[in-house]
Amino acid sequence: MYKFIDNRGKIKEITIARDILEDQRQLAEKNRTLLNSLGIKMIDIMGSVGTGKTSLVQKLIEHLKDNNRIVVLNGDLATTIDQERIMQYGVQAVQVNTGKECHLDAAVVKGVFDNLELKDVDLIIVENVGNLICPVDFPLGSHRRLLVISVTEGPYVAVKHPHIFAEIDCVAINKIDVAPVMEIDVEQITRDIKSINANTTIYPLSCKEGTGIKELVTELTGGWGNA
Ligand code: MG
Ligand code: ZN
Repeated sequence: MYKFIDNRGKIKEITIARDILEDQRQLAEKNRTLLNSLGIKMIDIMGSVGTGKTSLVQKLIEHLKDNNRIVVLNGDLATTIDQERIMQYGVQAVQVNTGKECHLDAAVVKGVFDNLELKDVDLIIVENVGNLICPVDFPLGSHRRLLVISVTEGPYVAVKHPHIFAEIDCVAINKIDVAPVMEIDVEQITRDIKSINANTTIYPLSCKEGTGIKELVTELTGGWGNA
């Protein structure tokens, strides 16, 4: 539903048919059924450009690669920068360049599955296209969805994007090491997120300093669900 607010403050609400999203949900469910049949877990990581999604994936790899055969799927409009960063860890990485598409979807992810030896995989980490709006509407069939935000996005990131926070079950607040310089109150951001979604779990952390990562890893791998 869209809201148009005219210059006298009059509000008009418009609803747009979203049947297309039902197809997406069914495709996502098929992906998850396939993964479950092979004992594979998948994490879908979302967040704006520059919040540290790739840095966090690198940290997750450091913690998980000894016990898991990992494949990373890097979604981006262009470039193989993220793929190259992941491959330094000796982990298989598939770059998906979406061109103009601002999110990954279940069909694209299935296409990647079809080109992998899934029997040699325990964990798939998806780094979605850098975007805080639509990726959440396109489930991939993952078992966990993680949103990465950063204190560099300013104090209003949650209240200005309530939709994604309402849908997400785990949020990482990255770059807390620079919060004092940015004059950002991490506690306030936490309260804002909780006011939108009381059930979401929130992990303030710093990929640069390595703080808070272990707690997030425990949370992500401790409660596999359907997302
Ligand atoms: Mg990235
Ligand atoms: Zn999109």
